[in-house]
Amino acid sequence: MQNKKISKILIGTNNHGKLKEIKDLLPKSTIVYSTKNFKIKSPVENGSSFVQNSLIKAKFFSKKTNLICLADDSGLEIDILKGSPGIYSSRWAGKNNNFNKAISKVFKKINKVDKNWKLKKIKCRFVCALTIYWPGGKKINSIGKIEGYISNTKKGKNGFGYDPIFIPLKKKITFGQMKPKDKYKIDHRFRAFKKIKKLF
Ligand code: IMP
Repeated sequence: MQNKKISKILIGTNNHGKLKEIKDLLPKSTIVYSTKNFKIKSPVENGSSFVQNSLIKAKFFSKKTNLICLADDSGLEIDILKGSPGIYSSRWAGKNNNFNKAISKVFKKINKVDKNWKLKKIKCRFVCALTIYWPGGKKINSIGKIEGYISNTKKGKNGFGYDPIFIPLKKKITFGQMKPKDKYKIDHRFRAFKKIKKLF
């Protein structure tokens, strides 16, 4: 039996940057609701993986609204920091979502492990897990990744979060320096979405 295409969906995030990016991935004809329409606070993300946390959010917001919900959980994994900040990427920015603070923490932690890191390529990747949750309890998920390395200074004003320090493999500029439309065509969220695009 062929699944019915999703024609309206709630994006389960209170993060403005993500909401915009996910909206842009969906077909123009899809009716999109945001958590702002319902004034719902985000749930506690106490999963131990990106997939678990995206499921927690998708299920929570779907149950609250009785709508099909698409939620993501994403973050930056830095090899030399054994995968940190990983699922704690947003928490490193603190309550005020201060990414100057989070980025300083990244530099400080890397410096602690290797004083000469600025002369090297510090490998990292952005990871995105997407979950779609239906009111009946059906769910699917998908993962996308983009490999890259850490810029030794913050560069660029575009994007959000760790974009000013992420240089994708084979590129010379950070996500923060890229035009949003160029970032969206290659990033972790796009790659995860590509795998579930046929549902829309
Ligand atoms: P969460 O998925 O809401 O827990 O937050 C993930 C965090 O990872 C965000 O707050 C960002 O700091 C970071 N992050 C995820 N995707 C991106 C991206 O595309 N660019 C920059 N930072 C990102």
